Amino acid sequence: MIPANKALIRTGLEALYFTGSHLALEPLLGGIGAILTLHHVRPAPPDPFQANRLLEVTPAFLEKLIVGLRKLEIDMISLDEMRRRLTERSFARKFVCFTFDDGYRDNLHYAYPVLKQHGVPFAIYVPTSFPDRLGELWWLALQAVVADNDRICLAMDQDRHFDCRTTREKYDAFEAIYWWLRGLPTEQALRQAMHELCRRYRVDMTAFCADLCMTWDELAELARDPLVTIGAHTVNHVMLRKVTDGEARSEMKMSAMVIEAALGFRPRHLAYPVGDASSAGPREFQVAREIGFETAVTTRPGLLFPEHRNYMTALPRITVNGEFQRLRYLRVLLSGAATALHNGFRRVNAA
Ligand SMILES: [Zn+2]
Repeated sequence: MIPANKALIRTGLEALYFTGSHLALEPLLGGIGAILTLHHVRPAPPDPFQANRLLEVTPAFLEKLIVGLRKLEIDMISLDEMRRRLTERSFARKFVCFTFDDGYRDNLHYAYPVLKQHGVPFAIYVPTSFPDRLGELWWLALQAVVADNDRICLAMDQDRHFDCRTTREKYDAFEAIYWWLRGLPTEQALRQAMHELCRRYRVDMTAFCADLCMTWDELAELARDPLVTIGAHTVNHVMLRKVTDGEARSEMKMSAMVIEAALGFRPRHLAYPVGDASSAGPREFQVAREIGFETAVTTRPGLLFPEHRNYMTALPRITVNGEFQRLRYLRVLLSGAATALHNGFRRVNAA
């Protein structure tokens, strides 16, 4: 969900694709594998205003992706196997890991049958407040506020008014408010602003959990399948870098304890919510290691390189984005050229 960067990423990808320069760069930048980030998998919704569209792909695209990867002879492996290959320097074959963030029910209904049919292992990172039905999916609440209203007032630096009658205006309003929220210095300030907005426009922020996220029973059903890894994703889906030391540590630690209590095993893998550089940094990478997570993933874009064995709690991922549901985009991403540009040609970016 990075609307402001979307056009830039797309332009970059198109340029790389059409010039073919990613092919020239491939031997240099190809890496040993990649961890893919997905969120929702479901049929495309009919409403033209889909501010969070980039967080979803269709089941048909997921299947095309799996078939395409298999044709390229890229292994599709679990996070445990990824960790083993990195630590044992087993790089003979390129690999991809499928990871799904947030534990949406559509993962069970639409993604799981496809992954199961093709025997593809995958991980689901669960913020424990979502199956506990206390989670605040504020980005969806914001979308609902904008979708349901023609005009929105919000106390930003000063009182601001947004017209949102047309689909175009709705996208503009969403983008302005979303990035203002993301720019607030603390997670608490973001939540307060969203509570105020939801109260004013009568949106029940916690209702999204019950509608969209798996219950503990559904997660337990998935967890019984050896193809499935359940990972931690904090308790409250907070941008960890925007909370205190104590809160960051307890968000990570408590989420592992709650999953263990609910499902009977302690998760070995973690994903930092939101996961960009403003949400997870060196403090989080160290705390995750201290708590005992074997791997932890960001959403910093990048392929895996042998050096990442020393940065197991600061791993990059490649987002499989609903806006780019074309295999040629993904081929460019997997070539490493686009992410190498983003990382200034550094192979590890863990600052
Ligand atoms: Zn998430």
